[in-house]
Amino acid sequence: MEYTLSRSKRKNITICVKDGRVTVKAPLKTDIKVIDGFVASKEKWLARKLRENSERQKRYEDVFAGREFMHLGERLLPCVTDKKRIWSSCKNLFIPQEFYYNGVLIISDLFVAAIKKYYMRKAKKYLGTRLAELSEHYGFSYKKFSLTNAKTKWGSCDSANRIKLNWRLIMLHKGLIDYVIVHELTHTVEHNHSRNFWNGVAAIYPRYKEAIACLKEAGILINLWR
Ligand SMILES: [Zn+2]
Repeated sequence: MEYTLSRSKRKNITICVKDGRVTVKAPLKTDIKVIDGFVASKEKWLARKLRENSERQKRYEDVFAGREFMHLGERLLPCVTDKKRIWSSCKNLFIPQEFYYNGVLIISDLFVAAIKKYYMRKAKKYLGTRLAELSEHYGFSYKKFSLTNAKTKWGSCDSANRIKLNWRLIMLHKGLIDYVIVHELTHTVEHNHSRNFWNGVAAIYPRYKEAIACLKEAGILINLWR
């Protein structure tokens, strides 16, 4: 099994699979045979992880290639517009001519900047409105809402009850967005992941475990346009 080894001042060996690659972290002096043995002992688990990873990658291949664009869990197909900015309608995402070359959409830095701007605009409106609605409906209160570009988190709530939501959430299904919002709102009263916290989430969103599984599935989208 091929893997990337990174040695550092640490006590034990850990292994993870990300973007189809296996990375092993090990202490500075651990014998390579010991590390190999450790990797070999995890072979079944690694094979499953790698398979899941590539299946997930495949599912979103068109999205990562810019052939499809996600919006609230739906896939929009790109097409050309005479207008100067990106907009959407029904199942289409209209993209200005300037981003095309010989009829092909080019995923240039300028395009990525423009599409991010489009998504941020959508996210600010939709997520902000939904957060306010759910907060009001379930009697929570939060201080401030802002969008983030976080690499691993869909949302966060700090000790001052300021809620941040990842703008890429706008790509996910409405039900999943609601789950993340309910999760963060519940943190305004329980700043931890205790049993109390999960009971609070479950009282509002009973199928939260299902949402967590779906979020894991769609989690790959958090890496889009980095
Ligand atoms: Zn949390």
